[in-house]
Amino acid sequence: MPELDVADVTRIATEVAHEHALPLNVMGAVSGGGDSNYVEILLTVSGCASAPCHLTIGVFRNVSAQHLSTEIETQLRRHLDDHRATDRRPSA
Ligand SMILES: [Zn+2]
Repeated sequence: MPELDVADVTRIATEVAHEHALPLNVMGAVSGGGDSNYVEILLTVSGCASAPCHLTIGVFRNVSAQHLSTEIETQLRRHLDDHRATDRRPSA
């Protein structure tokens, strides 16, 4: 299995955002604590209920680039959906 480094994770996240025209900026990525394969990606999201919205998503980098790309897209879309839902539920 190809192992991606933190720079690869950052690049892939940027590509996913660009490719799907998602309203966010990738600020960077950092390795997690205990598990060296765990990477957190830091992003800012435009158009969320609470702007500026800062988002951290956790991924594992010991997967293929394709898998990582899909995982990042899934998590980003979930966040964007959540924050649209929050718009209708101000208490959340
Ligand atoms: Zn948000």
